[in-house]
Amino acid sequence: MVDELQFAMLTGIKPEFHPNTGRPFSEDQVLSPSARAGYEAPRYCQICGRRMKVQVRPDGWDAQCSRHGEVDSAYLGQR
Ligand SMILES: [Zn+2]
Repeated sequence: MVDELQFAMLTGIKPEFHPNTGRPFSEDQVLSPSARAGYEAPRYCQICGRRMKVQVRPDGWDAQCSRHGEVDSAYLGQR
């Protein structure tokens, strides 16, 4: 199975939903400073807006959408 979510994040496909708020990307987002800086793990799938299963580790995080697969911060070069 292709991890569609990881593919979308790696290739920079425009998100439909905000990964921190789960709101449509076209709406105004109210973000915490750390989320704005990109330090927070995504909580929502950016493709479908579903709440993801997120696990935060000391060295990063991984998140899983039941429809669009898994993404790991290690693949994105983030910490
Ligand atoms: Zn999804």
